[in-house]
Amino acid sequence: MLKIYDDTHPILRKVASEVPLPLSKEDSDLLFAMAKHLIESKDPDLAKKYNLRPGVGLAAPQVGVSKRLIVLHYPNDDDTTTLYMLANPKIISQSVREAYLEDGEGCLSVPEDHAGLVFRPNRIKVKAFDLHTNKDIVIRAEGYDAIVLQHEIDHLNGVLYYDHINPLQALARKQKAVKI
Ligand SMILES: [Zn+2]
Repeated sequence: MLKIYDDTHPILRKVASEVPLPLSKEDSDLLFAMAKHLIESKDPDLAKKYNLRPGVGLAAPQVGVSKRLIVLHYPNDDDTTTLYMLANPKIISQSVREAYLEDGEGCLSVPEDHAGLVFRPNRIKVKAFDLHTNKDIVIRAEGYDAIVLQHEIDHLNGVLYYDHINPLQALARKQKAVKI
């Protein structure tokens, strides 16, 4: 099981370093371990046994490694599963239109709840190397997928979701933003 660092640790506020490609064994092993952690966090028996919070995304700084590596793992409505194991993900374009999760965002590194809406571009294009498919890929993500990707990429830049919450109008909706 990986140890998850919480937001009191300075590594969560550092800008993480790019990793060399092709990936070293150490970096590939870390991506596999992060994927395993996310998968096991959603298994009720294992989650109970190891006291894991279920997660849909994880960035290397959250496990104490300041490198640009992220993993996403979650089931989709159509019974497929999203799994990305990304090195050096980079947002190459984003929409003006925004989206937000109606219930706000959460984070494995943030133990207490921060009430408030987080507005992010609704569509993004991300370039990365993906270890799951072992290819350079371009991901076109929209809505929930785009939000999770941006949340994880934020971790590589030392940003946490509640940094985006406007403290004066934490629950104010924006008319044109897509509610998810
Ligand atoms: Zn997070």
